[in-house]
Amino acid sequence: MSRVILLATRNAGKVREIREMTRLHALDWCGLDEFPAVEEAVESGATFDENARLKALHYAGATGLWTLADDSGLVVDALGGAPGVHSARYAGEPRSDLANNRKLVAALADVPERERTARFVCAMALARPGEVLLESSGSVEGRLVDEPRGANGFGYDPHFLVPALGRTAAELSSEEKHTISHRGTALRAMLPRIVALLAQRRGLSAE
Ligand code: IMP
Repeated sequence: MSRVILLATRNAGKVREIREMTRLHALDWCGLDEFPAVEEAVESGATFDENARLKALHYAGATGLWTLADDSGLVVDALGGAPGVHSARYAGEPRSDLANNRKLVAALADVPERERTARFVCAMALARPGEVLLESSGSVEGRLVDEPRGANGFGYDPHFLVPALGRTAAELSSEEKHTISHRGTALRAMLPRIVALLAQRRGLSAE
């Protein structure tokens, strides 16, 4: 018997991606698209961890399902950690990657190259109704460049140079990005723990 786990996203592509990545783990996923009446969680946390926890708890409570949620963003050292948890709406509403990237480049105009260090951070939380069961996180270090490069990915990827590869995140294939990304790292840390927890619960219920 496998337990269906809700992935706290309405993005069908993300659900498909996680199904592919976890096909060896015998996990069964569904997405928020299957729950059109459930209200959006309010991402009011001050940290990525807090937002991941509150999203997981919100959707687990609303659906009764174990729920995996993530929260992610860009942390820029020279900007005191901004845009951080406000990454999606850095340039305001409506959310726009182009406007966010323009604002980022403008904010860094006086920052010398050696100080343009940044990282993508991802926090993940698995919850059942009323209880956070597991948490994980991941990050990837980079440097910010003024000129956008590459057509893959999304968000700040065209300005995020991965020094070890000499390419921006938008110049990586999705497989390459997943291998090094904050989300990939957080997910790889999470999956075996979910499998172990499910096995443990099954053992308990069989006793
Ligand atoms: P969310 O966690 O999916 O809400 O993402 C928050 C925001 O952080 C996104 O809208 C992007 O602006 C930014 N972000 C998160 N992960 C990435 C990434 O892998 N590449 C580029 N931008 C990202």
